Amino acid sequence: MKRVTILGSTGSIGLSTLDIIARHPEKYAVHALVAGKNSKLLAQQVLQFHPNVVVVSGDRVREEVRAELISNGLSPLGLPALEVGRAAQEQVAAATETDILISAIVGVAGLPATYAAVCAGKRVGLANKETLVAGGQLVMRAVADHHCELIPVDSEHNGAHQCFRAGEAKDVRKLILTASGGPFRNTPASALASVTPAQALNHPTWKMGPRITIDSATLMNKGFEVIEACWLFGLPPSMVEVVVHPQSSVHAMVEYSDGSVIAQICATDMRMPIQYAMTWPAREEAPVPRIDWSQARQWDFGPPDLERFPLLRLAYEAQEAGGASACALNAADEMAVEAFLAERISFPEISAVVEETLQRVPTLSLDSVDSILAADKFARDVARGLVSERSGR
Ligand code: NDP
Repeated sequence: MKRVTILGSTGSIGLSTLDIIARHPEKYAVHALVAGKNSKLLAQQVLQFHPNVVVVSGDRVREEVRAELISNGLSPLGLPALEVGRAAQEQVAAATETDILISAIVGVAGLPATYAAVCAGKRVGLANKETLVAGGQLVMRAVADHHCELIPVDSEHNGAHQCFRAGEAKDVRKLILTASGGPFRNTPASALASVTPAQALNHPTWKMGPRITIDSATLMNKGFEVIEACWLFGLPPSMVEVVVHPQSSVHAMVEYSDGSVIAQICATDMRMPIQYAMTWPAREEAPVPRIDWSQARQWDFGPPDLERFPLLRLAYEAQEAGGASACALNAADEMAVEAFLAERISFPEISAVVEETLQRVPTLSLDSVDSILAADKFARDVARGLVSERSGR
């Protein structure tokens, strides 16, 4: 029996992870559930999965969860331990009772507990890409030092992880990550200024949380994935190429020295990579319907448009620059996306705020979680100021 801790259990990835666990009660149990504020959903998860520990973001949410559980018939003595905050998150992530950690908190808030699990040498299924975007150097050093099994859950990196099993690292020529192109793939540049948050949240192929959905529309998400891939697989940015593939069926491809290209293809459902991260190196029965090859289909591939979607270019530049650049990129983007969703800035202003923030942050080397969080905060403050200037508030 493997015991799983989920960071971000109430989110989109968290729910898919619990679905896998529910299908295999003989294989998996939940040690801890970590979430932010969704006390109702979290209480339902507690009633179904019986974790030993629950960690939430604040005292008020803890009380809401406690009240919800008691009103559902749990005796106060039968409650799981209800904890709050970063130290408790780190503790459950590194606990001896955790065999597998699924890292799926959104944003850099997921870094400290993910890092704690890495340093404890856990199997980590990594969905939270911000951990590597902001803290790649620190985290990958710890992965090596503590023999952590870091298995990507992000579908493209999970696909790449599978493609890399086909050959030797010395023979790899390039990694190709596919991008759906988002809802504005065919929208002319002149029309981007008037797109609404509702249009941007309407992703053509994936159902995800709001931040990553907007990041998919700007191609920032693909930029983060380029950075994540560089760290995960030890590649320079020049060896990671992005190709627009609107059907999102091919997740990644690896080209080897002899010109052969190995592709990973599967249904567009996050339960596929989550299960792989939990069972690797073994493979289990597919958790979702398989691709039906008897149905005629067409797959398209084309280059991304860096003029209309400058955040992808900025991601390459930030990774080349090193230091705190990628951390600032992520922080500024988070602020800009928030402002766009609140209708304070326009869609093209997301990239403008991010680019200007990058020009204003100092070059720093990040050698601890706290230094990463400090650089993140600095960039966030700069971006927030730029948003206020633009929105007049
Ligand atoms: P969601 O927005 O759906 O969920 C985010 C989760 O994080 C929720 O459980 C939320 O809790 C929790 N959370 C937010 N802030 C905190 C905090 N400070 N402390 C504790 N918990 C917190 O996001 P997704 O599931 O879509 O994405 C999660 C991560 O996975 C992101 O990094 C994303 O980039 C990555 N990812 C997601 C994919 C997808 O298909 N969804 C694909 C590939 C990667 P609550 O809701 O209770 O407040």
